[in-house]
Amino acid sequence: MSNELPVLNPATEETVATVPAAGAAEVDAAVVRAARAQARWAALAPGDRARLLRRFAVTVDDHLEELARLEVREAGHTLGNARWEAGNVRDLLDYAAGGVERLTGRQIPVPGGLDVTILEPLGVVGVIAPWNFPMPIAAWGTAPALAAGNAVLLKPAETTPLTALRLAELALAAGLPEHLFQVLPGHGPVAGDALVTHPGVAKIVFTGSTAVGKQVLAKGAAHLKRVTLELGGKSPNIVFADADLEAAAAAAPMSFLDNAGQDCCARTRILVQRTVHDRFVDLLAPAVESVVVGDPADERTQMGPLISRRQLERVRSRVPDDAGGIRGKAPEGPGFWYPPTVLIGVDPRAPVAVEEVFGPVAIVLPFDDEADAVRLANATDYGLSGSVWTRDVGRALRVAQAVRAGNLSVNSHSSVRYWTPFGGFKQSGLGRELGPDALAAFTETKNVFISTEGPAQ
Ligand code: NAD
Repeated sequence: MSNELPVLNPATEETVATVPAAGAAEVDAAVVRAARAQARWAALAPGDRARLLRRFAVTVDDHLEELARLEVREAGHTLGNARWEAGNVRDLLDYAAGGVERLTGRQIPVPGGLDVTILEPLGVVGVIAPWNFPMPIAAWGTAPALAAGNAVLLKPAETTPLTALRLAELALAAGLPEHLFQVLPGHGPVAGDALVTHPGVAKIVFTGSTAVGKQVLAKGAAHLKRVTLELGGKSPNIVFADADLEAAAAAAPMSFLDNAGQDCCARTRILVQRTVHDRFVDLLAPAVESVVVGDPADERTQMGPLISRRQLERVRSRVPDDAGGIRGKAPEGPGFWYPPTVLIGVDPRAPVAVEEVFGPVAIVLPFDDEADAVRLANATDYGLSGSVWTRDVGRALRVAQAVRAGNLSVNSHSSVRYWTPFGGFKQSGLGRELGPDALAAFTETKNVFISTEGPAQ
């Protein structure tokens, strides 16, 4: 495997940078440095740790446009998305900083003494990030882990190391101690594997494919490593006949085309009640066809390219040649472009109907009634997100409860807020990130009993 990582602009295929790839020896040395930095960091007064993290947030904010433009270049994200992503890093750091002094244990009544719990940091945490949201997903693990008193080693995806490296520079500029937050660009099976198998790494936060997530869990088991997994999805968008169909059809395209569909929460299975199926498709077609696909640096662009030629080939191979439906437009020429695509009339058991495509591709499937909708929604190994469109509040709640997924939205496609929990059921993941309990996921609970009995007479 090459010891250099070429970073390409996915919209032009031009080389943006070449970054050295860390091997097992570099990971090992980084773990040693991180462990030392962590001991000092955990010993700081909580208010001082919080202040430094807040300063890091301000520094990110001061460089928001620079980070966003870097994300556009290395990941092909639209400028609007990339600005949101850099802002998300700032907000996560701020939110986590607010938790440092509030990370408290409990006092539990017991006879003969005082019983208290203490939340201790884990030590060194490895964050293995994907290429689809390089900045936010890196920060989902990093910000709460640091706030809880840990050191972080971040391995970005092979194709998108640049924003991660810049964030590490900004952390130092903000005054975070050296080696507390280190970025190790490298190949998954080399640098990623070295983190997963290293006895000095207490926890791995992994986001990526379900296949690699299972390997991380299995290999980490050798040291009973703590693991959080955020994996794939094949999320339903359930549209009942009583819904505001115009609103549902207007919202559906960007629920699976945002980030060119490279989104684990993408609502790629549009389930529509049979009585309104044809009307919904008539409304959906112009909405999909009018999505602006092109130069991600142009403010008007809604969808950019796929991340890489490899991903483009993957998407092509997963879409049957003979499938009919709706097709939007995509640029010709250099860049990894795939048009917005909606397949209609596919077999609900076909691979494209149950497996994650991770590209701008959705299917429309009809259903008969509420029970049928829930059955279809749950007919996948994944369980990350889902949406329900209906004007019937009781039905909205029943269906949201019946769908086996971690993040449901009603008459909306929102999934992710840094202050609400996020994670998957079934093969979409393990554990939760974000939300009020985010810091606690980076601690061990220690129980201490202090006897109040006097010395034996
Ligand atoms: P991947 O799972 O291979 O990569 C994700 C991260 O894991 C990267 O940083 C990678 O370097 C690292 N990695 C890879 N092999 C590893 C190993 N053996 N040990 C430790 N770390 C390792 O994902 P991919 O190949 O880039 O994409 C493949 C598919 O995964 C996509 O088509 C999509 O379906 C899915 N995916 C999902 C998400 C998500 O957000 N859930 C993100 C990226 C990819």
